[in-house]
Amino acid sequence: MKDQRLLMIPGPIEFDAEVLMEMGKPTVSHVAPDFIEVFGRAIEQMRELFQCHDGQPFIVAGTGTFSMDMACANLIEPGDSALIVSTGYFGDRMADILVRYGASVTQVRGPIGGVPDFDEIEKALNAENFKLMTITHVDTSTGVMNDVKSLSEIAKKYNVLVVVDGVCSVAGEELKMSEWGVDVAFTASQKAVGVPPGLALLVAGPKAIESFQKRKTPVQNYYGDWKNWLPIMENYEARKPSYFGTPAVNLVQALNLSLEQILAEGLDTRIKRHKRLSQAFKDGISGMGLKQVPMVEEYSAHTMTAPYYPEGIDPAQFLTGIKEEGIILAGGLHPDIKAKYFRIGHMGSVSFGDILRTVAAIEISLANNGYEFELGSGVSATIKSYNG
Ligand SMILES: *Cc1c(COP(=O)(O)O)cnc(C)c1O
Repeated sequence: MKDQRLLMIPGPIEFDAEVLMEMGKPTVSHVAPDFIEVFGRAIEQMRELFQCHDGQPFIVAGTGTFSMDMACANLIEPGDSALIVSTGYFGDRMADILVRYGASVTQVRGPIGGVPDFDEIEKALNAENFKLMTITHVDTSTGVMNDVKSLSEIAKKYNVLVVVDGVCSVAGEELKMSEWGVDVAFTASQKAVGVPPGLALLVAGPKAIESFQKRKTPVQNYYGDWKNWLPIMENYEARKPSYFGTPAVNLVQALNLSLEQILAEGLDTRIKRHKRLSQAFKDGISGMGLKQVPMVEEYSAHTMTAPYYPEGIDPAQFLTGIKEEGIILAGGLHPDIKAKYFRIGHMGSVSFGDILRTVAAIEISLANNGYEFELGSGVSATIKSYNG
């Protein structure tokens, strides 16, 4: 039988076949002229993806956590203050990293599934001289999406650098770095960018680079120090050979192709597709009577969904039932509600067929685990929503 397993978690995602073929090509030297051209193009395309015309892209082997690490290590000096707009697990991780580099950290958080109060954020900004404010665009532990545009506007009034964790949003949600005044944004290859795990992708705007250049103390992270990577990125973009640490050659080739695909689809079209598929999926979830972690639709991500289990469902048995239908979903991540909800990623090259199969599998597993509802109500709602 054909292996039809479908990976519907919030990263790694299902990858496009052409991108995977690109990865499988023979590895060339990191200073081969063809590869220099590919790396240079990938850097240029990163600027378009992040919509940051005057930003400096960094493409470095690592994961999303390394992107977070790199942003904090290069911007924070011991004694700096940082404000974290927290909507879950990844806000807490950001706090850990900032503290590690010597920052004093203030967190403003909302209830689980909600966003922090804007007035409270403004009050915090007013009370202390923060070097930077971090926002998790989509917190993958809750499916909550922050309003980055409005939050950046507030931060700009206080001359604070805005750092956006876009690991679950870039290439799936709208993010306009230059226009919105975002100073640093980053992601990882395996989420909506659609490339297997292994690349940390970050863009630093001019104010972030300036702040980095004005540092009085060395960056407390050797591998992530922008001083080491800036000349490398500049050289590749100028189509010149360069070396600091061997780039992940095959991943960079795959990234360049995936960025080409993303920009060929068009960012607006791509974001609309994510919205439409997300809505169809979420309507399916509601159609079978399930609630979601995000409290209001306005703050709900389009790259993923986080439904609560109905009363009496055993998470392990439910997920096993899903797997029997050939679909892989993720369990809960937020420590306070871990066993009460599950997570579905629907980003990148996701199709309506993937959405439909996933809704059907959820219905089947719920029914087999004793949930009483009208079988087919989810699928029906999904089709109506998609076609509406
Ligand atoms: C996945 C994710 C990360 C961490 O990325 P890794 O590649 O797993 O290190 C950080 N932030 C957010 C919002 C994420 O979704």
